[in-house]
Amino acid sequence: MRSIVTCVLPTVLLILLAAAPLRPAPPPESGLEKKLKAMTEKLTSELIDIRRDIHAHPELGNHLPRTSAIVIDYFRKLGIDVRTGYADSGVVAVLRGGQPGPVVAVRGDMDALPITEETGLPFASKDTAVVDGRETGLMHACGHDIHTTMLLGVAAVLASVRDELPGTVVFIAQPGEECCDGARLMIADGAFKDVVPEAFFAYHVDDTLKAGRLGYTSGFMSANVDGFTLEIKSEGCHGASPWSCVDPIVVGAEIVTALQVLVARELSVHNNTVITVGSFHSGSAPNIIPESARLEATVRNYGEDQRRLLQDKITRTITNICEAAGAEFDLAYAFGTSSVYNDPALVREALATAERVLGSKAALVEQKPEMGGEDFSAFGTVAPAVMFNLGVVPPDLEATAVHSPTFLADEAAIPIGVNLMANILLDHQLRRAGPAEKKRS
Ligand SMILES: [Zn+2]
Ligand SMILES: [Zn+2]
Repeated sequence: MRSIVTCVLPTVLLILLAAAPLRPAPPPESGLEKKLKAMTEKLTSELIDIRRDIHAHPELGNHLPRTSAIVIDYFRKLGIDVRTGYADSGVVAVLRGGQPGPVVAVRGDMDALPITEETGLPFASKDTAVVDGRETGLMHACGHDIHTTMLLGVAAVLASVRDELPGTVVFIAQPGEECCDGARLMIADGAFKDVVPEAFFAYHVDDTLKAGRLGYTSGFMSANVDGFTLEIKSEGCHGASPWSCVDPIVVGAEIVTALQVLVARELSVHNNTVITVGSFHSGSAPNIIPESARLEATVRNYGEDQRRLLQDKITRTITNICEAAGAEFDLAYAFGTSSVYNDPALVREALATAERVLGSKAALVEQKPEMGGEDFSAFGTVAPAVMFNLGVVPPDLEATAVHSPTFLADEAAIPIGVNLMANILLDHQLRRAGPAEKKRS
């Protein structure tokens, strides 16, 4: 029998070690923090010009030659190691600090949307493109022009203190967030082959919060974006003799209803799930039972376990209903963008920095997880990651709406976001740097 000391002591030590706090965030208004703030102020008008230029010339998808050229040029002028060619227009810039420390990364996405801008801004986009055979306007309606601009600003601010910076900061300018798997493709193309970050940070603009406020979620922040396409088949027959063939419309209708029952009766209320059959096409005349029905659905939930559970349950429900009706079917189920999981420890640390930099706890707004998707989740497969929501609602508006032709953002958020992210990254590095490097000048 082991003595109580040998049993208990290691346990106590383990608990103490596990609970050992990281170094506290450095004191407010230290010399280095003042330098970051002063540099941000110096850069602000230049950054706003860059944002307006990017805003006026949006590009779609993974091929963003104009935007990535601006980004590459800016990083090169800062004297940062620039690598290109990831996911077509993706750029990775590596800033090596003068002090030893870990590698951390920050991401800004660069792509726009096929929306015709109606803001009336003097720098509103007039650019167009042909998408799916239709001419459309192009617009930075999701704030990625602001994300890209802030990425450049943070690089410039941290480059200005590079001698005192511990470790390495990797700046990721990502294409194809809205449509095209840009984050995953950048990783697949070797963006982090030789410089592997131990943490990833990012912002998204928030259309419900004013400039100066920061939205946060600890744990799941956005949903898995999965879905299926189902083709129900029949021989078709006269509408007056429905016993002569399978009616794919009735089978499809039963499936639509059964999937809602599945959510309500088979899943815990604590596991947020949405199944929306957003497309149901069948038939051409009131008196003909058609030869097929085609259903398309989006399926949203959080985490890998849940998405697989849903796939099994949906497949089982569809298979059983079709078999009961004697209907043949083709089901194509696909996993899309994964849910973003904000690492709770990184969130906690960054919020301590944000409270200090933004000046009050009231500036920090806890938010519920969203059912939308965000491909920043791909970086979470490399290392712990966190995305914050940065308030951009203009002072004279209650709210604004991303993905709408009238989306407006308060440019005052740009220097606020730059200064805050520079501090979050610096604090992250200082907390993990060796004792000789943790002092702020
Ligand atoms: Zn978007
Ligand atoms: Zn977006």
